[in-house]
Amino acid sequence: MDEVPVRYLDTHLIDEDCNLHHGDFLLHEDGSWSLSNGDEDVKFNLNGSDRLITRSLQNWHTHLAMILNRGTGEDLPLQRWLEDIIFPTEKKLTSELVELGTKASCAELIATGTTFACDMYYFPKQMAAGLIESGIRGIAGGTITDFPTTSYPEGANQAINDLDNLLKEGTGNSRVEYAVAPHAIYTCGKESLIKASELSRKHNSYLLTHASETRNEVANCKKENGYYPIEYLDSIGFLESNKSVLAHCGWLKKNEMRILATHNSKAVHCPTSNMKLGIGGTMSYPAMIEAGVDVRLGTDGSASNNSIDLRQEAKLASMIQRHDHWDASLLNPEKLWKLSTQDSNDWVAWNIDDIRMRPHGFEKRRLLANLVYSNADCLDVWVNGVELRHGGMTMSLNVEEISNDLEIAVKDYYEDIN
Ligand SMILES: [Zn+2]
Repeated sequence: MDEVPVRYLDTHLIDEDCNLHHGDFLLHEDGSWSLSNGDEDVKFNLNGSDRLITRSLQNWHTHLAMILNRGTGEDLPLQRWLEDIIFPTEKKLTSELVELGTKASCAELIATGTTFACDMYYFPKQMAAGLIESGIRGIAGGTITDFPTTSYPEGANQAINDLDNLLKEGTGNSRVEYAVAPHAIYTCGKESLIKASELSRKHNSYLLTHASETRNEVANCKKENGYYPIEYLDSIGFLESNKSVLAHCGWLKKNEMRILATHNSKAVHCPTSNMKLGIGGTMSYPAMIEAGVDVRLGTDGSASNNSIDLRQEAKLASMIQRHDHWDASLLNPEKLWKLSTQDSNDWVAWNIDDIRMRPHGFEKRRLLANLVYSNADCLDVWVNGVELRHGGMTMSLNVEEISNDLEIAVKDYYEDIN
């Protein structure tokens, strides 16, 4: 390695296998870590005695720019929430608003220790630009719907052509990639779903969608197609891409779980969004694991959560799984932390002196339990050797300016909406 690492002195570090180490550590640009013997060349030394270093959180289902809709339609079920609040505002959506909203959400991700978002929204070029500027990693999934959007006024075919070109060009940044994101089986007809899947295969990109979110969706799919949602997606070859990421999966039968496992699909558990919208059903984590499905966690957008803090989502995932299955042994802090940080190559330093982390006794079980159930301030965030946040201050984005711009943008966004 020719790059120069940074050194944290006298600190605690929990590695990807959830082992706890104490001492002086080097964090390398390639994301690896090693023990320091004190004589290596380093960029600088940091006092780590008040910090706990861990892998960063990974958020597998977001609509980052929907921070524009945060705190609205607070008492509505999904369909009314979409029709009364979300779709009318989205008629006024512009590329500038998407870039601003994406950056604002990235500021929130960084402040809460997340360095990856799998995002689905409109104007993918601006989604990617916001992610790139923030310094985190991400997937910018351009949303396809059969109805016109301001992003694609001519509907699904225009979306498919635009995404084809974007995927050919690439984002020009190794941390951020484009993906194909047909919204759902109830907003995309069979033809659009098939074309979206073919496009993802052509470019070996991720294929993102929502599936089996509500009971209504499941019943309608069965009535119209003779299949349940995952069976239907399988029957039209949608899952052949082998890089599909399906949000929610709250109403699956066991055979649908096995289908997802066969196709290496990722299924994203979003418990807060499900509970807030009164969905009545949420993913069965133990059944999915038993079937061999690759389960991840996601927050959904700020409109249906209202937070994109993956740590909070992890806590609620553990709570709802235990509650639903009458089993307090499910998703213990160690398993939960592994699930929340799986595949992370980045680092976060948490404030171990935060009262919410006390008492910790420097025991692994307590440290992890406090971190995931009680929370701690996120002090430093590292991606590829770049410090996006230091001492509780985000450095990669001008958070004050973004917040001010967001206030101005939101006033106009909601002008004609009650
Ligand atoms: Zn969603």
